[in-house]
Amino acid sequence: MSEIKTQLVVLGAGPGGYSAAFRAADLGIETVIVDARDTLGGVCLNVGCIPSKALLHVAKVIDDAKDMASHGVEFGEPKIDLDKVRSWKDKVVGQLTKGLDGMSKMRKVKHVQGYGKFTGANELVAEDNDGNKTTIKFDHAIIAAGSEPVKLPFIPHDDERVIDSTGALEMKDIPEKMLVLGGGIIGLEMGTVYRALGSEVEVVEFLDQLVPAADKDVIKVYQKFVKDKFNVMLETKVTDVEAKDDGLYVSFEGKNAPKEPVRYDKVLVAVGRTPNGNRIDADKAGVKVTDKGFIEADKQLRTNVDHIHAIGDVIGQPMLAHKAVHEGHVAAEVIAGQKHYFDPRCIPSVAYTDPEIAWVGLTEKEAKEQGVNYEAATFPWAASGRAIASARTEGMTKLIFDKDSGRVIGGAIVGINAGEMLGEIGLAIEMGADAEDVALTIHAHPTLNESIGLASEIFEGSITDMP
Ligand code: FAD
Repeated sequence: MSEIKTQLVVLGAGPGGYSAAFRAADLGIETVIVDARDTLGGVCLNVGCIPSKALLHVAKVIDDAKDMASHGVEFGEPKIDLDKVRSWKDKVVGQLTKGLDGMSKMRKVKHVQGYGKFTGANELVAEDNDGNKTTIKFDHAIIAAGSEPVKLPFIPHDDERVIDSTGALEMKDIPEKMLVLGGGIIGLEMGTVYRALGSEVEVVEFLDQLVPAADKDVIKVYQKFVKDKFNVMLETKVTDVEAKDDGLYVSFEGKNAPKEPVRYDKVLVAVGRTPNGNRIDADKAGVKVTDKGFIEADKQLRTNVDHIHAIGDVIGQPMLAHKAVHEGHVAAEVIAGQKHYFDPRCIPSVAYTDPEIAWVGLTEKEAKEQGVNYEAATFPWAASGRAIASARTEGMTKLIFDKDSGRVIGGAIVGINAGEMLGEIGLAIEMGADAEDVALTIHAHPTLNESIGLASEIFEGSITDMP
């Protein structure tokens, strides 16, 4: 057993963990980062955000190439070499994890490969893949242990035809018929990939809309666009999955449930993620963990134990990489003695589906629930020159304004590049911009971003005070 003494240990090297470690090192704190994986980057870089986007890029090019036939350019049927698709995805991941490794070395952050568990309030032990143990004694710790896919008790998860997002990203084969269990972001993104590569994809969702966190009118645009691509069974639940030699037989219950069990080649379970708070012996350090496995942290990301902070998926929703990154920075700065807080007005959410679905700040649903005196303004892309020229008029830009102040308090975009466009709305919310500020900002023509300015003009009274 070897031993290391350090000022700061970061447990988990995902976007939260590595951002915290790098910021701490930049602030002169001696830092050790521990992760069970060989590479830095956590779920996001290794089996999440990045590999999924690499595959979604492939899917988009296939779909766009097919669509070109109606504009007079035919590319013919795509020939898919799955090994090459997989190596492209692995190369993207490799490039980024290698980059992180370089940044870590540059900052002299020590990387310990191993599964870490607390053994005391100032000590944890990491066990590597070969069973070797390292004791790490620390003054401060940041728990950034992330989350894992939720498993369902009635599903034979040990059957290799039942996969989670990590299994789906492995791209072992392209099943003829695949069920995506769960109509949230991760399920839809992976469904988009497999459909473009040739699978017949069906989606089952217990609630009455896909991506339940977003507004219904926004999701309606998406659902209408994909209705010929996926069979979507809303208000329906899976009650049983029976593994037989010739496939997985799935039984359903609910509004759109098929009467008899349906055979699938693969079932992708994407019903959410569960935090890893219960797996690190946090109690031995005196850190409280909720029944669900979350660790509670205050606005300075401090747990109930003063010198132990927690960030990212393990402290709660939204489970998103960019939230973890910002929390990581604040935690490191607080440990360095700075009076910083994690207190954003808004955190963006994006489904990188086709079309993309993106929202930030208050949704209309939330504005209603909170009794806000709001007004929503929507600009349909059927009136956007750029959308028409790109043959993608299905989109919509929606802004939510506080009616009293005229300030932008939320926004959603569904359409191509929605995720890239959303930044402007996030900035407007953070800066306290009102409808006039956005409407008077000259947006380049023809861009999809123009729709944000035009939605602001729709808001009543936005340009009445123009000089
Ligand atoms: P994680 O990235 O979960 O990293 C935690 C790390 O801690 C892991 O590497 C794990 O091995 C390690 N660990 C845990 N316990 C221990 C232990 N005891 N000892 C040692 N190491 C340990 N988010 C977005 O913002 N945008 C996206 O497009 C997006 N796409 C996604 C696609 C998929 C398929 C998935 C699964 C997730 C996606 N997410 C996306 C979510 C995003 O990946 C997470 O929100 C983000 O990775 C959380 O970062 P984190 O730092 O909290 O922890």
